[in-house]
Amino acid sequence: MKHCEAITFLISESQDRSLTLGERFRLKTHLMMCRHCRTYEQSVHQIRDMMKSYSSLDEVSSTETQRPDPRNH
Ligand SMILES: [Zn+2]
Repeated sequence: MKHCEAITFLISESQDRSLTLGERFRLKTHLMMCRHCRTYEQSVHQIRDMMKSYSSLDEVSSTETQRPDPRNH
């Protein structure tokens, strides 16, 4: 689907800032139709939760954390 790129971008944006109403609407309607982006969103949230629980433990840096998005700055 053509919009997937924009939607996955919105998903990662939503990790850093709150989306506008329009963006959230776009995201929601797309997620209803697109299984690929739903899966992406779920894994982003899972990884975020994992990172949160790991952030208190510094020694786990070598553990394999799979990121769906290679743009890891
Ligand atoms: Zn999609």
